[in-house]
Amino acid sequence: MRKLTGDTLLVATHNAGKLAEIADLLAPYGIKVIGAAERDLPEPKETETTFVGNARIKAHAAAKATGLPALSDDSGIEIDALDGAPGVYTADWAETAQGRDFVMAMTKAHDRLLASGAPKPWTARFCCTLVLAWPDGHDEVFPGAVDGQVMWPMRGAQGHGYDPIFQPNGYDISFAEMDPAEKNRISHRADAFSQFVTRCLG
Ligand code: IMP
Repeated sequence: MRKLTGDTLLVATHNAGKLAEIADLLAPYGIKVIGAAERDLPEPKETETTFVGNARIKAHAAAKATGLPALSDDSGIEIDALDGAPGVYTADWAETAQGRDFVMAMTKAHDRLLASGAPKPWTARFCCTLVLAWPDGHDEVFPGAVDGQVMWPMRGAQGHGYDPIFQPNGYDISFAEMDPAEKNRISHRADAFSQFVTRCLG
């Protein structure tokens, strides 16, 4: 496992919210975070069929372009009865000409589950794979996940994306009904970040 040395990390995202969240997380380690937009980096096409594949594309493109170690993430929900769909296409299921519509995306997931005839529980997991890549081509991969099931109807108003239909194991509420601090403690993203912090910064 290669450690992160130096004090600057490029975060390969154009999403300001994601960047701020990662900057906060890394501040205690004295690491300065730079976003992809700050360096005018193009957004590479995510052409792979796995979370790790797409995270690798983003991290390596950014590391090569800037000469800095670069961190990227790719995330989504895998529903077992749908053979892992929407998976890497989680955000795509929400796309409309007017922007992203997650009620539509969650309804699509529920419609497909009903059509599949799969019995409940509809087991599923949120995944978040982090990749840290260096300009010399080396990388380290941190696959995070949280297991649960798809619930219906949608419940809760917090969170984002598919949170209203995801009930994590050990809880009888959805991610969207959960205190955000609790979600951030048990989430797929927390899992991946704790591996990254322990193994690359520790
Ligand atoms: P990306 O990794 O930014 O491409 O996001 C993938 C998609 O997965 C997002 O559009 C969200 O809809 C979904 N997603 C990822 N993490 C979560 C989460 O914690 N809650 C709900 N939806 C999520």
